[in-house]
Amino acid sequence: MRMKLSEKGLPEKAVLAKLESELKGDFTYHSGRILGSMCTSPHEFGRHVYTKCLEKNLGDPGLFRAATQLEQKALGMLGSLLSHPNACGHIVSGGTEANILALWAARNLAKNRRREVVVPISAHCSFDKAANLLGLRLIKVKLNDRFQMDIKETEEAVTEKTVAIVGVAGTTGLGVVDPIHELSEIALAHDVYFHVDAAFGGFVLPFLEELGSNVPDFDFRVPGVCSVTVDPHKMGLAPIPSGGILFRNEEKMRSISTSIPYLAGGGAEHTTILGTRSGASAIAVWALLMHLGRQGYRGVVARCMRLTSKLVEGIRRINSVSLKTNPTLNIVGITSNELDIESIAGELRRTGWAVSLFPSYVRVVVMPHIRPSHIEHFLQDLKETVEKLGG
Ligand code: PLP
Repeated sequence: MRMKLSEKGLPEKAVLAKLESELKGDFTYHSGRILGSMCTSPHEFGRHVYTKCLEKNLGDPGLFRAATQLEQKALGMLGSLLSHPNACGHIVSGGTEANILALWAARNLAKNRRREVVVPISAHCSFDKAANLLGLRLIKVKLNDRFQMDIKETEEAVTEKTVAIVGVAGTTGLGVVDPIHELSEIALAHDVYFHVDAAFGGFVLPFLEELGSNVPDFDFRVPGVCSVTVDPHKMGLAPIPSGGILFRNEEKMRSISTSIPYLAGGGAEHTTILGTRSGASAIAVWALLMHLGRQGYRGVVARCMRLTSKLVEGIRRINSVSLKTNPTLNIVGITSNELDIESIAGELRRTGWAVSLFPSYVRVVVMPHIRPSHIEHFLQDLKETVEKLGG
């Protein structure tokens, strides 16, 4: 219901009481019911640092030099996670902004009349937004039988009009990693920009590798990769908003630079979409990377993957449903040959589970807020749902 701004304000206590009741309708992470989101309850320490730094504005680096340096230090650590400590970039508002920045750079660096971006059909809808904003056309490439961007189709899609190729390391739907090496070779052969969207996978794949899994290269180790999206507000446990964009070199980032003559004594340059932007986010990312270190994140990923295996085993034991594919990351697609997937999703929603519905499957993301008891409860409800629907 819409309200008018009243003449006289209410005491803080009264507003807080109202706030509590107003927010009752939201799902909460700690209930374990949020099974379809790539976000999670932010780490306590991240929240603490974030609230300490609320007034920091990275859009005005002349005023907030120290905060700007902390953003750079956070980027150094993210860069080292992605095999390139000297990468440059920003902590931004999320994966959407990061992907827009990457295509903006690609478009500005491209030769005249290049207007097409080759993406897999599994690419996140932020690329549709980016294309719309930047006057680009997406050429959507089919997937192979492992739900990865098909290489032959990609080769056929790349022409003299191509501005960029996008590969995804951890797709939104199934957490699949595209064949980044092969895509890089195509990009290098055609001299086109290559962006990797590791918004989700960027905080999982490096730790899976450290845990001994066989993880394909997806980051700056791959020579054609020009930029990578990696989102701290997904598996990085950082408060929303915090996304990350990393460019291989300054030249790529400078292609989207705008000078802001009235700030920082005339020296300010922005290479982001936003002007005023959250220093608290960047500093909280810095603090969490410092605090958790590789060991801390490895532990988070190991826990999520153990629970993913528990979920997978449970799904295998339920008649009439199956896995869309074997999960690479902590993302599980549940499908059915016999039952209508929309009905399954609808019934799960009615029993209080916030799962995501994709065209032929239900997606569960096993985020750090999920506990073993949540998985057990969900599997029980999934079984009952399937039985109720006649499976
Ligand atoms: N890229 C991928 C692979 C995603 O899965 C998502 C969101 O789920 C995004 C980009 C967009 O991120 P955000 O919602 O933070 O803008």
